[in-house]
Amino acid sequence: MLKKEILFEGNEKLIFATEDPERVIIHYKDVAMAFSGIKRAVLRGKGVYANRISAQLLQVLNDNGIPTHFVELTGEREQLCRKIEIIPIEFIVRNRIAGSLAVRLGVEDGHATGHVITEMRYNDDDLDDPFIHDDHALALGLATEDELRRMHELAERANKLLCTLCAKAGMELVDMKLEFGRATDDGSIIISDEISPDTFRLWDAATHERLDKDRFRLDLGDVVASYRDIYERIAKVLENK
Ligand code: 5GP
Repeated sequence: MLKKEILFEGNEKLIFATEDPERVIIHYKDVAMAFSGIKRAVLRGKGVYANRISAQLLQVLNDNGIPTHFVELTGEREQLCRKIEIIPIEFIVRNRIAGSLAVRLGVEDGHATGHVITEMRYNDDDLDDPFIHDDHALALGLATEDELRRMHELAERANKLLCTLCAKAGMELVDMKLEFGRATDDGSIIISDEISPDTFRLWDAATHERLDKDRFRLDLGDVVASYRDIYERIAKVLENK
């Protein structure tokens, strides 16, 4: 698929138009950012593994009836995706209380509750992504009731499926951010952002070692090696399916 002009340049990604108006190519850079851009580094190879892991997981979701934007890998750092109209809501699904929620609730980082917590944030940098729930989303016209119901359902199913997959790979999915959009080809709701160690927390199931972007946030080292380890563990599970 022929790559055309840049539609969007973010800190960690580039989005290119293609010859097909309903498809884009997403390019994963080697840049790592944290704390709203206060911390930034170039980590050689990070884009390769974020691209590969995202492709693995989005393909698993597609194969299990959870529609995503992913179509196919087109290069080491690139994948072909369905074009979407963005729905500016971040869904954060949490299997443990970690990160910002642990700080907010005053519990230890990684606290296990046995409950899945789903939070929604209005994706607006100027407002610092405020927390919202369905009534706010409806009042702001961000999505319809049916679309919200569908996004909640897909978030729950994606979390269950990825928890099971990660467990088979000896890892525990602690939390993750999901974003959705309306596919421009048929208007349906699909998962429309990467799912990678940049957007989830993933621990080694036995040792609770952090394998995800917390390695960068907390200066734990070996970020790219850890992303490669995640990729290889998932690949092994998928090969033995
Ligand atoms: P927290 O609320 O602890 O900052 O994040 C919860 C989970 O959502 C983590 O796995 C984190 O990586 C992901 N997440 C939350 N906000 C963002 C964001 O703006 N960008 C990315 N890439 N991930 C986020």
